[in-house]
Amino acid sequence: MSNKITVPLLDLKAQYATIKEEIDSAVHAVLESQYFIMGPTVAECEKQIAEYCNCAHAVGVTSGSDALIIALMAEEIGPGDEVVTSPYTFFATAGAIARLGAKPVFVDIMPDTYNIDPVKIEAAVTERTKAIIPVDLYGQCCDLDPIVEIAKRHGVPVVEDAAQAIGAEYKGRRAGSMVEYGCFSFFPSKNLGAGGDGGMVVTQDDDRAAKLKMLRMHGSKPKYYHPIIGGNFRLDAMQAAIVSAKLPHLDDWSAGRQSNAERYRKLFDATGLVQSGTVKLPMVAPERRHIYNQFVIRVARRDELRAYLKENNSGTEVYYPVPLHLQECFAYLGHKPGDFPHSESAANETLALPIYPELTGEQAGYVVECIVRFYA
Ligand SMILES: *Cc1c(COP(=O)(O)O)cnc(C)c1O
Repeated sequence: MSNKITVPLLDLKAQYATIKEEIDSAVHAVLESQYFIMGPTVAECEKQIAEYCNCAHAVGVTSGSDALIIALMAEEIGPGDEVVTSPYTFFATAGAIARLGAKPVFVDIMPDTYNIDPVKIEAAVTERTKAIIPVDLYGQCCDLDPIVEIAKRHGVPVVEDAAQAIGAEYKGRRAGSMVEYGCFSFFPSKNLGAGGDGGMVVTQDDDRAAKLKMLRMHGSKPKYYHPIIGGNFRLDAMQAAIVSAKLPHLDDWSAGRQSNAERYRKLFDATGLVQSGTVKLPMVAPERRHIYNQFVIRVARRDELRAYLKENNSGTEVYYPVPLHLQECFAYLGHKPGDFPHSESAANETLALPIYPELTGEQAGYVVECIVRFYA
């Protein structure tokens, strides 16, 4: 075994090397125009993302976190309201709810896909429920049909946290296109990353799109007249230019991630670790296009394995080590360990391996070899 192999969790320099001219010229065009706020570059990016997601509208915003906030603001969610969501997600999902003064109401995940369990949502809905935020974790759509059905029956909108899932599909339909709001992030580590922060809200609804556009400009329409209170939630032109330059490559990158996932499956199968139950591979639910923002395995002695891989120059990450119901800032919600057992065991056992499109067969093979050695 070679000791010279290094496997980062993500290698954005490798990606940049393949598209440097396109990115550089897109950035230069914005510099030449000196049109930094809104304008044609942002409008063009929104048009392209709407089309890619099969949605009528896309509204560029500052980040994925703000995409969630502005969608909840558009529904006028605030103190006294409840929003149902998953405790096993990035903080921003529940943070958006709490920042508006509303109460996050958690519902446990399914242990195989790590996405919210639709069967458990009904019991969490009360007359104070004002929205449901399911999360498409790791790049795989949650089970949207039953979620949409429950939401419709209770007359509340679905805000899909699709930050990790741009281009993912459920029964042939794109993430974000089946619900009232789809929220995307252009954080650099997502499948479609900007050169900094950025995000987008997609919707099929003309009125909701118009309200989102007002809200991101301090609730103004026309300029300097404010029927509602919003904020500065604008996507800036430099980020929009980079997103637009990268979008034509997104399907190739997602395909690269999918073939790396297949390679990991074959490599792991050959080790016997899957058959013995030592390593659990990610489950792809039926009728899904999984875009593998993360390839997450499930193992015993996870933290020791992670340290061993680090010693051997392999990057990994834990998404996420503490489920949200047990975060210090949410102590006021009164949860205790055991409340959401599937989320808690996932937080203890999951480990994301490098899956970025430029990962080589040699690197993937090395990661698996290290894991075999660790459990030997
Ligand atoms: C990345 C992410 C966000 C937040 O996106 P930012 O652009 O970093 O603000 C929200 N939810 C999930 C599930 C994410 O992965």
